[in-house]
Amino acid sequence: MTDTVLAVLNQPSRDAAPHDPEADAFTWATPLEEHLQVQDLGAIRGDGVFETITVVDGRPQALEPHLARFVRSAAMLDLPAPDLDAWRQAIEAACARLDPVHEAFAKTVMTRGVEGSGRPTGWVYAAPSGDQTPARTKGIAVVTLDRGYRHDVERTSPWLLQGAKTLSYAVNMAALREAERRGADDALFVSSDGYVLEGTRANLVASVDGRFVTPRTDIGILAGTTQADVFRFAEGEGIATSYELLTLADLEAADALWLLSSVRQAAPIRSVNGVARSMDLPMTERINDFLLSRDA
Ligand code: PLP
Repeated sequence: MTDTVLAVLNQPSRDAAPHDPEADAFTWATPLEEHLQVQDLGAIRGDGVFETITVVDGRPQALEPHLARFVRSAAMLDLPAPDLDAWRQAIEAACARLDPVHEAFAKTVMTRGVEGSGRPTGWVYAAPSGDQTPARTKGIAVVTLDRGYRHDVERTSPWLLQGAKTLSYAVNMAALREAERRGADDALFVSSDGYVLEGTRANLVASVDGRFVTPRTDIGILAGTTQADVFRFAEGEGIATSYELLTLADLEAADALWLLSSVRQAAPIRSVNGVARSMDLPMTERINDFLLSRDA
């Protein structure tokens, strides 16, 4: 057992050569050593896909939805299909090898590989999550930022890869820094034609007249595994759920807002663009209890 774990996939995809059927699915490696070759397209172009999976008491949560999105993202980038058996093995083994800790995460990364090799690079890195309590209990301040794309960009310009979880997060990180410059904790992207999209690393859910509403997932945003499970929680509680086009006026009219993501789970929004919002902290606690007790 160790505090951080790295499993390097020997054959991240069966579609790519070379394949040695005798090789183990993965090889243990030391996280602090250098593994990435300088010509890896993941490093030099952000050309690859990833997932970050919550791990609670050694159990990966929403594993199959994460793997399904990993496959979808890879397909959107024309990458070879991830060999899910190998990835599952590496994820489960990494979770089991991690020091016992209540909350951790496992990050799966598959890049296009070293330029010219035709072979993807893949690894699973796992580590403790750190304390997520402040965001969950005190809430977060967000500012809205124009993403600069229309809400139909996924259909009109699929090469922009909106809706894929790619390694190209420099834009998301720039938006986060801009939010911090404006005194907030996170940014909420809005389309150039006025529809609310998603956070820099999270989905939005609004409580509206007793319903839970989230932006439609065909508008160039990630379909969130956490949001999907919050809808599952809501349905179990008899709360109606829906996927809609939401405007900033809809946000203003909502009774409570959350940003949802793996690792942080449900963070209630305490202000939008400097305007205080009421938070439903008892509901937030119930949502987080539900999310942290998922057994799949
Ligand atoms: N949207 C973006 C841009 C993200 O990066 C993430 C997660 O990292 C999410 C939404 C939430 O996805 P999930 O709940 O599956 O972690």
